[in-house]
Amino acid sequence: MKNTYQIAIDGPAGAGKSTIAKAIARRLGILYVDTGAMYRAIAYKANTLNLPLDQEQTISDMAWNTDIVLKNGEDERVLCDGKDVTEEIRSPEVTRAVSIIAAYPKVRERLVAIQRRKAQEKSVVMDGRDIGTYVLPQADLKIFLTASLEERSKRRWLELQQRGKKQSLESVQEDIINRDRLDRERKVSPLVPADDAYILDTTGLSIEEIVEDIVNNLKTKVNL
Ligand code: C5P
Repeated sequence: MKNTYQIAIDGPAGAGKSTIAKAIARRLGILYVDTGAMYRAIAYKANTLNLPLDQEQTISDMAWNTDIVLKNGEDERVLCDGKDVTEEIRSPEVTRAVSIIAAYPKVRERLVAIQRRKAQEKSVVMDGRDIGTYVLPQADLKIFLTASLEERSKRRWLELQQRGKKQSLESVQEDIINRDRLDRERKVSPLVPADDAYILDTTGLSIEEIVEDIVNNLKTKVNL
C-alpha cells in the first residue's frame, strides 16, 4: 500500500482555499503547495519588467527563465529568482495581471511541471484552479470550495485591510468577478470542478468546521 497521499483543493477566488489548505497541512504534517503563488510570481515579474501582458510569447519565455521556489515552514515564503516576493505578489496590481498570464499554455506547462515534482516528494495538499482536473488527476481527495460572492469579496477585502492595503469592497468584488470569469473561460485548464470532486460551500462555516469535514472525508479514503 502506498504511504503518501494527495489532497487537491480548487475553487474560485476568495473561497478560502489557502487558509484551509494551510490548516490541513499543519494538522496532518504534510506539504502545502500554493500554486496560485507561482502564477502570481510570474505576473509580478512581468509587471516589474514592464512586459506587455498581452504578448504571450514574451511572457512565456520569461516564465521559462524564472526560478520559482516555495519555501514551507512556519510561514510559507515565495522566492522569485532568489528574491522573497511573498508580500508583493498579493498586491491589487498583481491580482489584476495574474489571470491574463495564467491563460498562456506555456506558462502553465512550466509551473505544472514544478507542481507535479513537488507532489512526488511527500504527502501534499495543493490548492489552485486545475489541481483535481489536471495537475493531480489521481489525487486521493478532491475538494471544490465555494462560497457566495459577497462572502468571498468580504474575506479578500478583510485580508487586504489586515495587510494595510486600501481598496474598496466594491473594487475587490469587481476584481474577483473579472478574475473568476477569465479563469472559467480560458481554453487551457479552466476553473471547473473535477467530476469526482467533493463540492463544499463554505458560506457561514468556520475554518475548524471545514477542516474537520475534509479530514473526516480523507479518513474514508486513506489510512491516516
Ligand atoms: O489562488 P490565487 O488567487 O492566488 O490564484 C491567482 C490566480 O492564478 C488565479 O486567479 C488564476 O488565474 C491563477 N491560477 C491558475 N491555476 C492554478 C492556480 C492559480 O490559473 N492552479
